[in-house]
Amino acid sequence: MINMIRVKVVKDREFKGDVMSELEKASQEFKRQFGVGFEISEISEWNSGGISFRFLDLFPFRQRFLNMLFGHLMRDLKRKVKVNGEIVVGFTGKVGSQHKKTFGLADSNYVLIGICQRPYSHVIIHEVGHVFGADDRPDSSVMSSQGFSYTYDFSLQDREIITRSLLRSPKES
Ligand SMILES: [Zn+2]
Repeated sequence: MINMIRVKVVKDREFKGDVMSELEKASQEFKRQFGVGFEISEISEWNSGGISFRFLDLFPFRQRFLNMLFGHLMRDLKRKVKVNGEIVVGFTGKVGSQHKKTFGLADSNYVLIGICQRPYSHVIIHEVGHVFGADDRPDSSVMSSQGFSYTYDFSLQDREIITRSLLRSPKES
C-alpha cells in the first residue's frame, strides 16, 4: 500500500486562479475514503497547444465540441508532461469560463480539468477515481459523469476497485 499518491500539477497559460485549495480539499476527501492523500508537487506551467475557446458557451453543440477539444488537450498534456509514476492533474483555461460546470477527463495517469467553478474538488476526486479504475455508472447516483452531478463519495463497488488498485501500487517511501 502506498503512503501518498504523488500528484504533479500543471496549469496552462490561459488558466487563471489558484488551484491549491481545491487540490488539498480533494486530497483530504480521498484520504477520508481510502486512507491515502495526495502529495502535491509544485505547480508547473503546461504550454498547452491549440487555440483557445473562451466563448465556448455561445457555441451550439458545445458538449460535442467540448469533448473534441478536451480529447485534443488530453493528447497534448500526455505528450508534453512526462511523469515517472505520478498522476498528472492538468488545468486548462482554454475552454471558456462562463460555463456552469467544471469539466473533467481522465486517461491512464492523466487528469484534465477545465472551466472551473468552485468548488470543483469533487471533480478532481471523480477523475482521480478513474485513474484507479473507477467507472462511470449512469445507473448510480454516486459515481457520476458529465450530465450527472459529481459527488465526493464513491459507490461501494468503486471503493473496492480503487482500494484494490491502491494495494497493487508499488510501495513508496
Ligand atoms: Zn467520469
